Amino acid sequence: MATKSSNKQASNQTWQSRAVIRTVDAGNSAYCAVCDELIKFRARIRDEQVICNVYKDDKWDRVEHYHPECYQEAELPYGEADDPYDREKINTSGQSN
Ligand SMILES: [Zn+2]
Repeated sequence: MATKSSNKQASNQTWQSRAVIRTVDAGNSAYCAVCDELIKFRARIRDEQVICNVYKDDKWDRVEHYHPECYQEAELPYGEADDPYDREKINTSGQSN
């Protein structure tokens, strides 16, 4: 039996909803999916938001935004958020400007 094995790019990847942490931009106008409040940019604090790409039936469906603490309270509906800034946070202790 000849099985086609030409799909080098594994196509069995399922598109899962996932969450990442991003800094809040100055022009941010996203509302938190939990508390319904605007996720505001505040100049003094490097605010973060959780952005979730939500997939339905292997298709991208929508993006949801959360305050990090709201996301925690909602018990990580899309799993633990990737935090690309984790390392930075550790490095920047004590050094500013
Ligand atoms: Zn919130």
